[in-house]
This record gives sequence, structure tokens and C-alpha cells, in this order.
Amino acid sequence: MPPSRIAYMTVDAEPDCPPFLWTWRGITEGMPRLLALLAEEGVPATFFTTGATAETHPGTVTEIVAGGHELACHGYSHTNFKTMDAATARDEIARTNAILRRHAPVTSFRAPYLSFPEAYVPILADQGFTVDSSRGAYKRNEPRNATAGMPFRLDASVTSSVLRIPHLVRDPWFAMLKSPVTLFVHPWEFVDLTQTGIRYDCRFRTGQPALDRLRSALRWFKTRGFEFRLVHEAPTLAA
Ligand SMILES: [Zn+2]
Repeated sequence: MPPSRIAYMTVDAEPDCPPFLWTWRGITEGMPRLLALLAEEGVPATFFTTGATAETHPGTVTEIVAGGHELACHGYSHTNFKTMDAATARDEIARTNAILRRHAPVTSFRAPYLSFPEAYVPILADQGFTVDSSRGAYKRNEPRNATAGMPFRLDASVTSSVLRIPHLVRDPWFAMLKSPVTLFVHPWEFVDLTQTGIRYDCRFRTGQPALDRLRSALRWFKTRGFEFRLVHEAPTLAA
């Protein structure tokens, strides 16, 4: 029997705060902290990883897989798919799969910036994806389709910065979310970027406060009976 309340912890493993920084402190400094916290809390996560991340930091990918987490695809270059023609989009995804699938099976996909043209969804099916998590449930004007033979659509429930807002605001927000809940974070949130010139919602409470917030968020859901599952399990659990 599937659990009555399901949560998915998802991570976008990519350069720092694109399109503003493009450095790799999240991967080199934030990721070890994040992986340690997930291990301590016993929470399995799905890591949507860019091809460039895997190419430049293969040891990080090895650690993700060794930690019992799911390796998933986040495109190669963190370019918005809405700027690509279909052939370029296909190449971007195929190139990433060739790199990631050397490490583990990869059947879940999320587009950068939660932005993916509906017309390209068949490319995901061709490339062996069974789940697409490219849409934000909070983006109200997204089309809602469910086509046979196409990937299962698992929408992100909240933007990543929501996890960092104060408990008094955040927890009532959590309480309104219906199962399944899809949380997401980026490794660069666990590096102190408060002194950098990036957009406020990217930098506020980054570093240790973000780690503390993530821990309390995971515990909030666990104590309310949510079970954390991997994204590739979603179609089965929804049946
Ligand atoms: Zn991303």
C-alpha cells in the first residue's frame, strides 16, 4: 500500500544561482553539507543534475549515488529550453544522459528555471524519461495535460526560497500543501551568499541558516506522517 502522505525532496545540482553567478561553490561547499544532513535525517532525495556539473564534478555524482539518492537530468548547460529549437533541445538532453547514465539509471527530468515547452515533452518520452518535474504548481497559467505514453508530471509545490522564510509564515504555508508535496533546494543555498550582489530572494538566509531551515522543514513533514520517496517512484505511488 502506498503511504497516505508522500513528500519528494528534490535538489537541482547546478552552478551557483544561474543566471547570476555560474561559480561552483554550491557543488564544492554546499553539497557535502546537504548530503550529510540528508543522511542524518534519513531522507532520500532526487538530484536533478546538469551535464556540466557531472562533467566537472564526477566525484559529487558518485557521492549522490552512493548515498542512495536518485540521479536525474537537469539539461547540460542550464539554458532555458524556451530559447532552443527542438533539435538543440534534444541534443542538450541526449548529451546529458550520456554523461549521467555512466553513473546510474536516469528516468526523471526537470528543466532549468521550471521552463519547458509543452511541444518538447515527446522528446522526454523518446529519451527514456518516465517523470517530468519541470512545472511549478504555483505557476497558475501552465497547461495541464495527461497524455498516454508521455512522462508523469510531478509539479514542484513551492519555490526553493520558501524553505528559508521564518517559521511563523512558512509552517502555515506547509500546512496548506496537499500530498504529494515536492520540495526543492539548490546546493548553493547552503553557502553564505548574503554578501554577494545577487537578487535578494537568492541570497537571503543562505549558508548555515538555510541548512537549519531545511532540517526543520524535513522534520515538519516527517512528524506529520509524510514519507519521503524518490521522484522515479511517483507514477507507481499515484496509481
Ligand atoms: Zn536549475
